[in-house]
Amino acid sequence: MLPSRDTLVAYPDGTLVTSSRVLHVAPTSTGRVAVITEATSFHPIDAAWPDQPADAGVLRVRGEAHVIRDAVVAATDGERLHLGADIPVRRGTEGWSFLVAHLVDGGSDVAEGDEVTIEADAATRRALSAGHTACHLASLALNRALADRWSKPAREDALGSPDFDGVAIESSRIGPNGSVDRYRLNKSLRRAGFDTASLHDELDGVRRAVAAQLDRWIASGAVVHVERGGDGLADRRDWVCELPDRAARIPCGGTHLDSLAELAAVLPRLALLDDAGTPVLEMTCEARLRH
Ligand SMILES: [Zn+2]
Repeated sequence: MLPSRDTLVAYPDGTLVTSSRVLHVAPTSTGRVAVITEATSFHPIDAAWPDQPADAGVLRVRGEAHVIRDAVVAATDGERLHLGADIPVRRGTEGWSFLVAHLVDGGSDVAEGDEVTIEADAATRRALSAGHTACHLASLALNRALADRWSKPAREDALGSPDFDGVAIESSRIGPNGSVDRYRLNKSLRRAGFDTASLHDELDGVRRAVAAQLDRWIASGAVVHVERGGDGLADRRDWVCELPDRAARIPCGGTHLDSLAELAAVLPRLALLDDAGTPVLEMTCEARLRH
């Protein structure tokens, strides 16, 4: 039977292992099997905003470990199961349930009603969490470093700076211990009052300002946590970082470190690229963990 409520998710608070019941098993077009459980600790990739990749790990049933090859956000209206990019509605749409689909090899012996244990790999999770925490922190540092380039009022970010990240972001990709964010420097951004013309010559100064801000924030050892409006996959969650001046809050479906004290450094690089005629600012971050 297709589930009639969202998958309960345990990963936002850092949980790696969950025992749960299998609600639905379905073959996929790629020859794998999608396993949907009542609850999971396994972070899935969300095709609607694929910033953080899926966890790595296994699903255990009857003493056998099945490698989870991928995990994707899925949805159902009770009629059929839609996986990843095939979901035809926005997250949270009424009458729909939003689910984590664990993809295991075809032929795996997993059936509806089975009690299973889902285990996310700790090292992979920590590396992705470091990348995601660094990514949010760097976006705030970039907004602050670019604040004086706006000639018109712009919407504000979580710390009150003009929200360059929110206005110009094209894509955000989290990897192990790092992230790559791409920003469109297009006509609408210029019309909104952002000075792109002199960025080329001043790029290294901007990078140094971002790096210095990141150093100060990391030195504060600020506590990080994910606040949630509910336990379901589609419930609102916020990344909250208790920075010295004020707490920063950013809507976020991913996983994070518990504190900036876990980071030794976040090293940003900036580059100006050309994407089919549109100038793009690319920020790459490397997060170094303390050991
Ligand atoms: Zn996030």
